[in-house]
Amino acid sequence: MLVLVFAFLPARVLVPFPSPGYRKRTMSQWISYRITQYGQPLEPQVAETPVPRGTEVLLRITGCGVCHSDLHTWEGFFDLGGGRRTQAGGKTLPLTPGHEIAGEVVAVGPDAVRVEVGDQRVVYPWVGCGQADCQECRRGDEQMCGKLALGVFQHGGFSDHVLVPHPRYLLAYGELPAALAATFACSGLTAYAALKKVGKLGPQDKLLIIGAGGVGMSAVRLAQTVTGQAPIVADIDPAKRAVALENGASEALDPSVPGAARELVKATGGAAAAIDFVGAESTVKFGTSALRKGGKLIVVGLFGGLLQMPIPLFPLLEITIQGSKVGSLPELTELIALGQSGLFGAIPYSTRPLAEAAQTLADLKDGKIVGRVVLTP
Ligand SMILES: [Zn+2]
Ligand SMILES: [Zn+2]
Repeated sequence: MLVLVFAFLPARVLVPFPSPGYRKRTMSQWISYRITQYGQPLEPQVAETPVPRGTEVLLRITGCGVCHSDLHTWEGFFDLGGGRRTQAGGKTLPLTPGHEIAGEVVAVGPDAVRVEVGDQRVVYPWVGCGQADCQECRRGDEQMCGKLALGVFQHGGFSDHVLVPHPRYLLAYGELPAALAATFACSGLTAYAALKKVGKLGPQDKLLIIGAGGVGMSAVRLAQTVTGQAPIVADIDPAKRAVALENGASEALDPSVPGAARELVKATGGAAAAIDFVGAESTVKFGTSALRKGGKLIVVGLFGGLLQMPIPLFPLLEITIQGSKVGSLPELTELIALGQSGLFGAIPYSTRPLAEAAQTLADLKDGKIVGRVVLTP
């Protein structure tokens, strides 16, 4: 009887995927590693590969980076501190995470122009709703809307294919390695946009980077080009501090040592700017304590928690705390051009088979990954 039921299911219905069977899937099917329940291991699923409609473009994925935000998408909440969390919601499960995608165009919709089968492209994943009454989309900040972001609200790159809504989200990356170019879409872009908020620094101005994971390491690589300063890096992991020094940091320190921020201020006069790529209560506290008067802390990381600070410090020290999430489509274009011109070096990255998606998320959660892991189907 069961066989009969399956026989009547439409071809595009997703079927849970028995692990040894995937080699048997046909050429017209795609495999994706999907969140079917928040916090539970990703499930491999096969389905008929979608045919692009309208302006849509289908890419065969050559690489997809694994990001800390994939962890938050997978867990389904953000920690707001004091035992409070954001509600899991707004997402339709199953959902394929992964937003650092590079791939080759294999099919284009009838209304997709200036794109050809065979094009190698990085995908800009921070797709907005595009509605006329959306303030963010209307003023060109669709990353702040992000309601249709790939790997967050629509199927992303933990798959062998991805459907992109419009060719304007596809950017050429020339001779750069596909796996590296993929990382530009989030870790590179997030670091770049945060550094642009710092702007050009003077010769005496110190830049502090807190957290040397994938995004922080991208910032270490880009700092000199964007701000004119090699950064001081703070990370609790000695392995990450060592890699940061090899990748352009001027100094590296352990922020968990008592008095570390005070020592830094004593030795340098304090940071003109700090970027917190962790975003935990301890790192924000460390970052604000390490600022000089008039300094600025940019919070990028989403680790979570609650910020408590004496309000008089803001006027007395004239400090600024600013948030930064990802970056705009024009900023990704700028970043790829910088990468192609060789103005900054590649972050350390390694590749793993797509089938290791779930294990890679687990390793990232446990802090076992230095630089970036890029999944390759
Ligand atoms: Zn990301
Ligand atoms: Zn919008």
